[in-house]
This record gives sequence, structure tokens and C-alpha cells, in this order.
Amino acid sequence: MRLRNIPGSREAIAESEFVIHDEESCKGKWREIFGNDNPVYIEIGMGKGTFIMECARRNPDINYIGIEKYSSVLLRALEKREQEPDLKNLYFIRMEAEYIENVFEKDEVDSIYLNFSDPWPKDRNAKRRLTSDRFLKRYTGVLKKDGVITFKTDNIDLFDFSVETAKECGWEILAETRDLHHSEYNEGNIMTEYEKKFSGLGHKINMMKIKQPS
Ligand code: SAH
Repeated sequence: MRLRNIPGSREAIAESEFVIHDEESCKGKWREIFGNDNPVYIEIGMGKGTFIMECARRNPDINYIGIEKYSSVLLRALEKREQEPDLKNLYFIRMEAEYIENVFEKDEVDSIYLNFSDPWPKDRNAKRRLTSDRFLKRYTGVLKKDGVITFKTDNIDLFDFSVETAKECGWEILAETRDLHHSEYNEGNIMTEYEKKFSGLGHKINMMKIKQPS
């Protein structure tokens, strides 16, 4: 998702109390920052933040961090976040996910959500996909033992690639469906912005849940 550059978005983000600004100095200290020992769940590429905000509302005993690389997109999430200042379990970070191991210690993250990640359809860009082997390795560097990744997409090619890559890298497939909304896994499903849009157009939603190699 790329919105046109919104003048002032960097400044608005810099001033927000809901955005972590010095994320690399938070490595190993996330539970201190949230002020409790609750699990930490992150969404990488949260877009406008609808999904992670609803997660935070429904699960006050889980700490959430939404990661997004573009200021113009993060600003949209922030506008919604600011209307709910009482949500204590949600922060945002503007960063490129490649550097995730600089921000979280091994074992510091309990679960990762990847929702409608950019497909990068050309082979030469495969390493940029958030479910590529390079990224899976980075996730292993922050996830706790038995940590789980949940991935949703309407893009069949990206889904096939992701299932294959996960298997090749030794991850255990805990759940896999090519039609989430008509599957046993749909109960409690929180729709993302892209999910609403694409399922509204008749696209089936693919979902996998994978556990890292022990
Ligand atoms: N998760 C949202 C948005 C999906 S679009 C939804 O399902 O509705 C994918 C989002 O991921 C975009 O906002 C894009 O800017 C962000 N993104 C893509 N690659 C990223 C990366 N490497 N690091 C951080 N954010 C990324």
C-alpha cells in the first residue's frame, strides 16, 4: 500500500506518543515498555491498522506492535489510534521489516501476523517477499520457541510460494486453508482492510499458520 506522500506526516508521527521512535533501543525491553509480562504480538506491514487495533481491543492481555514502512500509511493508522487513547496495549513503529532483529531480542515476540503482504511477483524480487526464506530466518531471530506466524493473502501464487518456503525451511504447518471464510478457522477471524476489499470482490482468502522449527 502506498499513499501519495502526505506533507507533514513524518512530523505528525515524530510527535506521537503512540509511536516508538527509538525502536532499536527497545530491544530486550518490550515488556518493560508495556509495563507487564503479557505476550507480545506484532503485525508486519499493518497498513492503516484496522486489524491490529481490533486485536488490541479484543485482547487487552496481549501487547501489540504494528510495523509499517511508509509514513503516509502509518499516519492513517495513527489518526484512528489517537481516537482511542485508552488502548494501553498497542504501539506502532515506522520501519523496514528487514531490520526486525535490531528491534526485538530472540524470544521476545510470541506471534507474528503477516496480512496481505506485497506479492513481489517477479522471481528476481522473491527475496523481498515477507515469507521468503530470508525473512523466515529473521523471524526465527525474534520469535520465542513454539512462536507462530499467521499469514493471510488473496494472492494464490504468493500463498503457494509461502507454504512451499515454510516447508523447505522446516516450519511446521499448523493450519492451511485456501478459503478461510468458509473454513473451520474462520471463527474469531478479524478482517483486515485488504481482506474486506478483496473478499468483497469475490476473491478467496488463503491462510496458513506455521510454527518455527524447534
Ligand atoms: N495488512 C494490511 C495492509 C496490507 S498492504 C491489510 O491487510 O489491510 C501491505 C503493507 O505492508 C503496506 O502498507 C506496505 O507499506 C507494508 N510493507 C510492505 N513491505 C514492508 C516491509 N518490508 N516492512 C514494513 N512494512 C512493509
